[in-house]
Amino acid sequence: MTDHSTDILISGGGVAGLTAAAAFGSAGFSVLCVDPAPPVTEETADGADLRTTAFLQPSLKVLKDAGLWDRLAPFATDLQVMRIVDAGGKTPAPRVTRDFNARDVSDLPFGWNLPNWLLRREILARLKELPNVTFRPGTGTASVLTRDVEARVTLSDGTRVRAKLLIAADGRNSPVREAVGIGAKTIRYGQKALAFAVTHPEPHNNVSTEIHRSGGPFTLVPLPDRDGRPCSAIVWMERGPEVLRLAALPEADFNAEMTARSGALYGPLKLETRRTVWPIISQIAHRMWAERTALIAEAAHVVPPIGAQGLNMSLADIRVLLELSRAAPADIGNDRMLDLYHRRRHPEVAARVAGIDILNRTSMRGERIARDLRAAGIAGLYGLPPVRKTLMRAGMGVRLSA
Ligand SMILES: Cc1cc2nc3c(=O)[nH]c(=O)nc-3n(C[C@H](O)[C@H](O)[C@H](O)COP(=O)(O)OP(=O)(O)OC[C@H]3O[C@@H](n4cnc5c(N)ncnc54)[C@H](O)[C@@H]3O)c2cc1C
Repeated sequence: MTDHSTDILISGGGVAGLTAAAAFGSAGFSVLCVDPAPPVTEETADGADLRTTAFLQPSLKVLKDAGLWDRLAPFATDLQVMRIVDAGGKTPAPRVTRDFNARDVSDLPFGWNLPNWLLRREILARLKELPNVTFRPGTGTASVLTRDVEARVTLSDGTRVRAKLLIAADGRNSPVREAVGIGAKTIRYGQKALAFAVTHPEPHNNVSTEIHRSGGPFTLVPLPDRDGRPCSAIVWMERGPEVLRLAALPEADFNAEMTARSGALYGPLKLETRRTVWPIISQIAHRMWAERTALIAEAAHVVPPIGAQGLNMSLADIRVLLELSRAAPADIGNDRMLDLYHRRRHPEVAARVAGIDILNRTSMRGERIARDLRAAGIAGLYGLPPVRKTLMRAGMGVRLSA
């Protein structure tokens, strides 16, 4: 049994935990990050995370400060236009289409899309450059005891760690959140998402498209060409049993069904990866801290994948926590700092969780009248330039972020 002392212990090496390790490590803090599941860093390997992340503008600074952006930029696809489509008529053909062009509010694209397995690969490479950061895959947090001056954590291999700040980045069922006694409110929709990549004959032209019909949105997000063919990541949300049916379809039938669901906007879609299935919930922790402990990312908040908010909210958590740590390094992990963190993040997180919950419920509705109302809402609300600009800024996190 060994003892280890560190400024920061990060429980969880998902994309959020690894990014936090790079961010705090780049700022000069000593960091230990642990995760029982070794990260999968190849697209074709078993267990690879085939989701992609559309990083929105405010996340760029966090990635740059963490020394990550130079590594990620060569693989990122610009997202210039966000297209919202209602296809809630008798057939899945588009009835109403509205475009949000980032040009209307900024010189930059509104976001950049990257595969999650590639993020893990590149963040791990960055961590290897940081002598003050240790990542221990295969080791998890086993027990937590906090005191006024430190968190005392025992890892699954018996190591005892003393940390000024324990960051819980250990996912929606966070063992740390449970250990420190923070409750959470969870909303279940009976919904799941399929995430996979496709190629198609028509170019995407850097347009990200969200198509609403029933069961939840069908979203195509641009990726770099694959073997010379235009390529997109898809997130297809439906009621749980329907997702399981789709996931089990023979490939040719699946290609036909998703092409129909896409309104054939890029021509016939061809599946290029495995289909991965993700349960969809909303969840928010009652508070974002306990003694010597901060909750970030899905340990603190989970939202359905609409408008690319999830990990972007997590990067905002990291940004605020890092700002507070740098402003008063001697205070790192004390009650005053963590209470400030909570006050800067929790209202913003609560507003986004509530907003995305409403969007998801609206997108799930299948009844004729609800579909028609949704189409009218998209046409009317998003058609007004000032409202559209405000919604774009809010969606990108420019106005609302702490
Ligand atoms: C289909 C889909 C599409 C999405 N698209 C987007 C998008 O475009 N943009 C966006 O911003 N967000 C998106 N999201 C959300 C985003 O993917 C998640 O927010 C993010 O992946 C969650 O990361 P995390 O690190 O918080 O959690 P996780 O990835 O769940 O990581 C938690 C880690 O904690 C580890 N852990 C568990 N127990 C322990 C323990 N005892 N000790 C230590 N570690 C432990 C786990 O092994 C795991 O590696 C999407 C989500 C879905 C479902």
